[in-house]
Amino acid sequence: MSEKTKAQELKDKLFYKKKNVFEERSEEEIDRAYAYAEGYKKYLDNAKTEREAVNAAIQLAKEAGYVEYTLGDELKAGGKYYLNNRGKSLFLVKMGTESPECGVRINAAHIDSPRLDLKQHPLYEDNGFAYLKTHYYGGIRKYQWTTIPLALHGVVTKMNGETVDIVIGEDANDPIFCITDLLPHLASNQSQKPLGTAFEGEGLNLMIGCRPYRDDEIDQKIKLNMMAILNEKYGIVESDFISAELTVTPAMNARDLGLDRALIAGYGHDDRVCAYPVITSILEDEGTEHTLIGVLADKEEIGSCGATGMRCRLLADLIDEIARETGTNANVIRANSMCLSADVSAGFDPLYPEVFEKRNSALLSCGVVMSKYTGARGKSGSNDASAEYVAKVRAIFEANDVIWQTAELGKVDAGGGGTVAADVANHNIDTVDLGVPVLSMHAPMEVISKADLYETHKAFCAFCK
Ligand code: MN
Ligand code: MN
Repeated sequence: MSEKTKAQELKDKLFYKKKNVFEERSEEEIDRAYAYAEGYKKYLDNAKTEREAVNAAIQLAKEAGYVEYTLGDELKAGGKYYLNNRGKSLFLVKMGTESPECGVRINAAHIDSPRLDLKQHPLYEDNGFAYLKTHYYGGIRKYQWTTIPLALHGVVTKMNGETVDIVIGEDANDPIFCITDLLPHLASNQSQKPLGTAFEGEGLNLMIGCRPYRDDEIDQKIKLNMMAILNEKYGIVESDFISAELTVTPAMNARDLGLDRALIAGYGHDDRVCAYPVITSILEDEGTEHTLIGVLADKEEIGSCGATGMRCRLLADLIDEIARETGTNANVIRANSMCLSADVSAGFDPLYPEVFEKRNSALLSCGVVMSKYTGARGKSGSNDASAEYVAKVRAIFEANDVIWQTAELGKVDAGGGGTVAADVANHNIDTVDLGVPVLSMHAPMEVISKADLYETHKAFCAFCK
């Protein structure tokens, strides 16, 4: 007989136990998670910049019957709308039948990722090569960006207002670009330097060509040839770089990782791995009661600033518009609203256990991660959700069979980070962080588990209900 002892029974009842999705879920459910991941990989491949992420999301929203909305338009009960903010951030709105004063449910992710942006005067020639100068965006480890295939994404807006879209390096027939690195044979000096200083921001120059324009007289023939190629293809001149947003990203599509295909390697999981479930949960929601808002924000990686970042008033404005259209009080709506700040967490990495405190770390494949607080040092910059609100969200997950865990970002004083949570909460809206654990966060190739991705989708679906 394998009857449980009283102590064992008591232990089962009283102790917290983390669950592994692959151990808990049926084969069918795991198949569903793998199938869901196929859609996500497609989204990720089409969304390497915030602009592309907005376009890909609008595509999905339109297919689900959402129509474009601009501030001041009518908002009807049962209506499905998207607000495109400057092509760089997006709001999905599903108007419910109950009074918005009952509170709206907000899921907010960000769609910008660490990368290398081109400077305003990027193009130069040096010793037989043409280069583009870059200025990195967000928290990167500079050495990771050398000797990997890179692509160029973005827009150039000419003085006449015409915008040209540029993507070079993603199609298998496209050329790629790269940043070279020292050969080990000659790196003895560099190898002595601390990692943080061995690679300099001003050294991250993108090699784009070496063939000179055919002419015996002029100088800067290689630069001229590059400019001539760009002019022929895109109709741009050098000064147009000034009104451009061109970004260097890894030239790699998302791939299954591992013999079991349980993981996905890709660029920009932070935070599209949360943005995608935000989109799918709201688009798939069949409820009619609650008003739902899905936010895809820009600029999180540099502080959520500016007109497309989460600190912009636009979320509050949108709620003001909902109030005006429904004859309700916007302040009451906000006070009763709830938000999940959808962002990734650091997954425990067995290769670097020293920066984690395992009891309070997110484990890959153990479900969606709730972080009551983030921040650095003494929780600085954190939202720190209330016990009451955490309990409410916990109860939603338990009632809807979501496998979830809690974590903070590594050991106390090992570092830290923030999310958009505090920026939403500043509008008097209860907010807690929720998302997918990631390995190698902010690297050109990050790693996530399909199991966590699907549980995150389920968590957002439960929250929308
Ligand atoms: Mn993030
Ligand atoms: Mn990040």
